[in-house]
Amino acid sequence: MSKARIRWIGGPVLKARTEGPFHVHEAIAVGAQRLLGEVIQLDGDLIVAQVYEDTTGLKPGDPVEGTGAALSVSLGPGILGHIFDGLLRPLGAVTEHWFEPGLGVRRNQEFDFTPCAAAGDSLAPGQPFGEVAGHGPGRLCLVPPDVSGRIVSIASAGRHAEDEIVLVLETPAGERKLAMQHDWPVRRPRPVAARLLADAPMVTGQRILDTLFPVARGGRAALPGGFGTGKTVLQESLAKWCDTDIIVYVGCGERGNEMAEVLDELPELEDPRTGRPLMERTVIIANTSNMPVAAREASIYTAITVAEYFRDQGLHVALMADSTSRWAEALREVSGRLGELPGESGYPAYLASRLADFYERASRVTPLAGGEGSVTVIGAVSPPAGDFSEPVTSHTKRYVRSFWGLDRSRAQARFYPAIHPLSSYAEDVDTLARWWQLQGNPDWKSHRRRLLTLLEQQARLERMARIVGKDALPAEQQLTLLCADLVNEGFLRQSAFSPADRYCSPRRQTAMLKLMMRFMDLAEEAIAQGAAPDDIAAMPVLRSLQRLGEEYPEDRVDEMTAVAAVVESAFSRLARQETANAG
Ligand code: ADP
Ligand code: MG
Repeated sequence: MSKARIRWIGGPVLKARTEGPFHVHEAIAVGAQRLLGEVIQLDGDLIVAQVYEDTTGLKPGDPVEGTGAALSVSLGPGILGHIFDGLLRPLGAVTEHWFEPGLGVRRNQEFDFTPCAAAGDSLAPGQPFGEVAGHGPGRLCLVPPDVSGRIVSIASAGRHAEDEIVLVLETPAGERKLAMQHDWPVRRPRPVAARLLADAPMVTGQRILDTLFPVARGGRAALPGGFGTGKTVLQESLAKWCDTDIIVYVGCGERGNEMAEVLDELPELEDPRTGRPLMERTVIIANTSNMPVAAREASIYTAITVAEYFRDQGLHVALMADSTSRWAEALREVSGRLGELPGESGYPAYLASRLADFYERASRVTPLAGGEGSVTVIGAVSPPAGDFSEPVTSHTKRYVRSFWGLDRSRAQARFYPAIHPLSSYAEDVDTLARWWQLQGNPDWKSHRRRLLTLLEQQARLERMARIVGKDALPAEQQLTLLCADLVNEGFLRQSAFSPADRYCSPRRQTAMLKLMMRFMDLAEEAIAQGAAPDDIAAMPVLRSLQRLGEEYPEDRVDEMTAVAAVVESAFSRLARQETANAG
């Protein structure tokens, strides 16, 4: 292997004079401790590299050794249910020392392996050759996406370590020995048979998302918000409730105590669908602010590589990154150390292209082995001072199709989720309308439009009401404000901590929405007939509508028809009163 000697070192970055060839993205072993690093630039006979561990004690003259391979992670059945650092090395309990430094930390868990192919069979790239015993999805053993050949030998059913040779292939390039796990470079997207268009939402169980700002399966969404606006709580709700097979959660540069909460909570959670531990279908990648900054830069690529690996098994995967701003800060720090010309807010000029590299790997695909899989990416962004015009938020906006803007004043009013309907958007509404139609709501798109129009009008009328006073507004406008309040309180508000309401199925969302729509139709009619807005505001049924989410959990959806009957009779009564008053 090629060797080099350190000439200069500054924090996580070093320059070394080479004695032999290196290539960009090659993994290297640095110093006597053989710390893991990666070549990021070639400059004549110098390499520029970043080191994924604490570099204290390294000095000029220390040795660097190439590995000949791109920075890679080991993908195999031992990933699910565990907590790793940014390079997929296992983390133990949350302690002061997160992991032992040094290359070659191996995972060697044992699994009960059952082959699904026999000697003499041909295996195409990405094809499964066996399965390990256990619960839940994600237990296939795949041929690497760039390998194919005829089976010379394959292990019989039995217990094997994850890194033990279980398959020998005769390939065009010679014999290839394979284990249940295989390495894949983190910066290279895994190949697929075909990329597919989005045609269904990733159901989140959050009304404001599914009904107003859906994200497609295989789509990408950004969740920007200042400190304390609810990014982590929402990411956790999504992890728990969204309808994907696998969750990859990457905690990126948040403070240790915030990450510790997630690390404490997630492993405790029960999967609401199966009653088994949610961790069985979850992978956590943790790089807190006290961990090496370069590993944080790598961690989101590691996470998306892991997500693609499960996608390639024909599974639907959701990847939550919290927060991509801390990731961008790592990029900025490394760039600063390299003395690169800083761009906006000190971020390097390639911030945008790196964000694109990440988000563009969200996908709905036909995997090499057939079937269908997807990776949906949800990136939290924490803009300083909640300013969405800063570089990370504004560049992220270019690459996502759903934008869920968290709002400080909503959060301060404890209105959760604090997503502001007027600073959020979703671009796949036309494609997803068909899915809602199949769910029994052909009117989803027009209902959604009506809600958004109402909320826009509310913002305008509230400004006006502040000037002229609410009572000076015409009756129809007063009604608009009343209906907007109802939609906010009764539909968009949803506590992550309410057992009855923390999850809302598409069916329940539709039932609630239909009730709200019916109320608004009747109220508009009543106003047109001369009813006073105050009479409508005083209707007791309005309180029931505001509490629909809490009062009618999933097992009582059908009973909402009773509320519909009350709405109808309340308006008939109002109409009779009007006629009596007129007469
Ligand atoms: P961030 O990650 O944006 O800094 P958090 O997700 O930690 O913010 O949220 C801060 C606090 O706000 C939480 O501890 C919780 O009390 C409250 N909160 C946030 N989102 C919700 C929600 N969806 N339902 C109920 N409470 C919430
Ligand atoms: Mg947080």
